[in-house]
Amino acid sequence: MAQSYNIIIKGGHIIDPKNNIDAIMDLAINDGKIVIVAKNIDEKEGKQVIYARDMYVTPGIIDMHVHVFYGTKYGQALMNGGSSVGPDEFSFRAGVTTFVDAGSSGWRGFQDFKSQTIDVSQTRVLAFLNIVGEGMRGGPFEQNIKDMDARKTAEFAKTYPKEIVGIKLAHYEGHDWAPTDSTVKAGKLTNLPVMVDFGMSDPPLSLEELLMKHLRPGDIFTHAYAYWPKTREAPVDENGKVKPYIFEAQKSGRIFDVGHGGGSFSWSQAIPSIQQGFIADVISSDLHTGSMNGGMKDMNNLMSKFLNMGLSLQEVILRSTWNPAKIIKRAELGNLSVGTEADVAVFSLIQGDFGFLDITGEKLHGTKKLVAELTIRAGKVVWDLNGMAATKERK
Ligand SMILES: [Zn+2]
Repeated sequence: MAQSYNIIIKGGHIIDPKNNIDAIMDLAINDGKIVIVAKNIDEKEGKQVIYARDMYVTPGIIDMHVHVFYGTKYGQALMNGGSSVGPDEFSFRAGVTTFVDAGSSGWRGFQDFKSQTIDVSQTRVLAFLNIVGEGMRGGPFEQNIKDMDARKTAEFAKTYPKEIVGIKLAHYEGHDWAPTDSTVKAGKLTNLPVMVDFGMSDPPLSLEELLMKHLRPGDIFTHAYAYWPKTREAPVDENGKVKPYIFEAQKSGRIFDVGHGGGSFSWSQAIPSIQQGFIADVISSDLHTGSMNGGMKDMNNLMSKFLNMGLSLQEVILRSTWNPAKIIKRAELGNLSVGTEADVAVFSLIQGDFGFLDITGEKLHGTKKLVAELTIRAGKVVWDLNGMAATKERK
């Protein structure tokens, strides 16, 4: 009998929020696609059978906020500079199969970004295009309103619909709404969501005004649990209470993104928020050289933080697969539906005594930790921590 499938993943606990699957099931892959998800797939049907007993099988993780426009241009920060990182170096080892770059590049640098990073990475790399033509080049470049051209940015985004999924504004220090409004205008012209990093305005601009007057439903506020009281209004007030308009904004479709980064995740914000029911829609890392060795580390560590703050594994997986896929309007991603590209992650959930740091260095004790055991990208094993997919074994 000919074997029907390249790979069968057998006996794992599948969590696929889009399809409401939360059960021990098998999954088969052929020609790079998911071909069947069922209670019991005969192992004789697989050329390769991977046993995932006591593990969790999920869609490949989507990290919706990273910086991967790495390059050698001295002094250019995240835009083709040394502060961005290479995608394949960080993705698969954390179960991630899709990175969404959050505005490292504007339209001026995008062709370089595409040819030197997006086109040559195994990781799927999508991008929010920065409203600033020069992208995240640092210093005065990101303050230059003359370089925030909504029409030019929209035109460019329309030229690359496969890669560009939204428009980004970040790091603005002025005290006016012109950059926000240019960004939203580019979003309207392209029918794409915008993501806003609220910058550093002194005195701070009104967060309520940003959410309810400037952003549209479907637009994204990132760094949801950041605490920079002097320059940025936080969702939680001085008494630890989530401001009422935050719930209103979320209910009316404004999206909240974690974007942990090197400076944007404080327990003082995250813990009361979650206790009071303000849970970010998307868990994302804001990966770059300034976050990877601090409290953030990687998506596994970040997802584990949310488990230890009381979210269920299902809630965490939803916020790192299907939710970001919907928000960036890529419904073909972040799920295990039959016919979709086979991007799959397999995790162990280990128990122990762990410590989790926020950006201030404060430690939260936790007992659970997610570990990426196996990652499959388009049907190919690209990460295998303990050799569970090995086809030969040393005796
Ligand atoms: Zn960022």
